[in-house]
Amino acid sequence: MQKRSWAEPYKIKMVELLKMTSPEDRRKAILAAGLNTFLLRSEDVYIDLLTDSGVGAMSDRQWSGIMMGDEAYAGSRNFYHMRDTIEAYYSYKYTVPTHQGRGAEHILSKMLIKAGDYIPGNMYFTTTRLHQELAGATFVDVIVDAAHDPDNTMPFKGNVDFDKLNALVDDVGAEKIPYICIATCVNMAGGQPISLRNLKELRVWCDKHDIRFVHDMTRVAENAYFIQKQEIGYADKSIQEIVYEICQLSDIATQSSKKDAMVNIGGFLAMNDAVLYEEACALVVVYEGLHTYGGMAGRDMEALAIGIVESVQDDHIHARVGQVEYLGQRLMDHNVPIVQPVGGHAVFLNARKILPHLRQEHFPAQALSAALYQESGIRSMERGVVSAGRDKDTGENYMPRLELVRLTIPRRVYTQAHMDVTAESVVDVMHKADQVKGLRFTYEPELLRFFQARFEEINPA
Ligand SMILES: *Cc1c(COP(=O)(O)O)cnc(C)c1O
Repeated sequence: MQKRSWAEPYKIKMVELLKMTSPEDRRKAILAAGLNTFLLRSEDVYIDLLTDSGVGAMSDRQWSGIMMGDEAYAGSRNFYHMRDTIEAYYSYKYTVPTHQGRGAEHILSKMLIKAGDYIPGNMYFTTTRLHQELAGATFVDVIVDAAHDPDNTMPFKGNVDFDKLNALVDDVGAEKIPYICIATCVNMAGGQPISLRNLKELRVWCDKHDIRFVHDMTRVAENAYFIQKQEIGYADKSIQEIVYEICQLSDIATQSSKKDAMVNIGGFLAMNDAVLYEEACALVVVYEGLHTYGGMAGRDMEALAIGIVESVQDDHIHARVGQVEYLGQRLMDHNVPIVQPVGGHAVFLNARKILPHLRQEHFPAQALSAALYQESGIRSMERGVVSAGRDKDTGENYMPRLELVRLTIPRRVYTQAHMDVTAESVVDVMHKADQVKGLRFTYEPELLRFFQARFEEINPA
């Protein structure tokens, strides 16, 4: 019998109506947004693939949890439920809630980094690296080279290259490295997973050098899916078991709960070290809120506790990544150049190949993202030179090898038909790619510039 395809392990109880727009409406809207999809109004968007952050559909159980919010200033019941769920599913004993992932990164960086330190990581993430730099550290990329090659189809492109890690220790000394920050299912590499074998070797390496192991666990469930599917010895383990095993290898975790854990807002910093936890409690009151709510409402902590459990169910994650793989396959069927293998949360278009006539300093991925919106009202995001920002010492643009447009799939929100329309629109843009013009800044913010930058077309017709 033929293998059955995945299908959603849920049915739809409520729908949100979308506005349909004309090409003229969309041209007006994208120009008003300075050709930056972050500055579009959501109501002018048809299919919103800007991000998977905070835009997932909560379940009826999570919405019931919202009604069970205990909005006490201190010691909310929902905090204890969330904390106990984190310990049961992720292994970490102590939890400090934060308003979202970057709140946790901020506190962590302040606690552990001294000026002049180095933080190795498996590729940078925008907010993560910025908090490390603001605390005085230099980020060092130690991901395998394959991660920077969109055509390399090797599995586990999120793995760490130990030669790079050892070279860093030789160079600066282990005492200048307070921790290594490892992301599961590396966002900036295209949602590429790290293997459990690599994680286990990292644990040994960290013990040998007395360096702490920090886990950016924002996408841990999606990472577990790839381990179950591709790593020898894990086919019979559940996603829940694999997630737990991953977490147990690390000392500290940050999570943006707006991704895998399917809440609209929230995050946390978790750890096993009681002394460090006390320090985190002292800082969270300054920057987020009391240590039993840290920037989250009681109801949001309840929805998170429930979301964590739902996020590690096999049926859920198979349908979630299955939908992303479906979109990737449709694009590949039409020879659209995308990052391979397709990652856990998004399909990344290779803008260099789609727009070969644009040089990187004219922001091909930014231009492609604006063109796709004009074509069909689909909102995507640039992940290339604009996102990479400038070197804090030289002021020069970082010129990443990857110049990508990200089509990010929100969890449990869109249907297969939406994926079909998306693929068809990308193909249509690709067929008139030579009409897409390069861009230049009309406004460039200093930090995290991709969020609010504005552009104009070079040589507008
Ligand atoms: C989204 C994200 C963050 C930052 O979290 P926010 O909730 O957006 O502040 C950090 N790391 C990774 C891998 C992420 O995807």
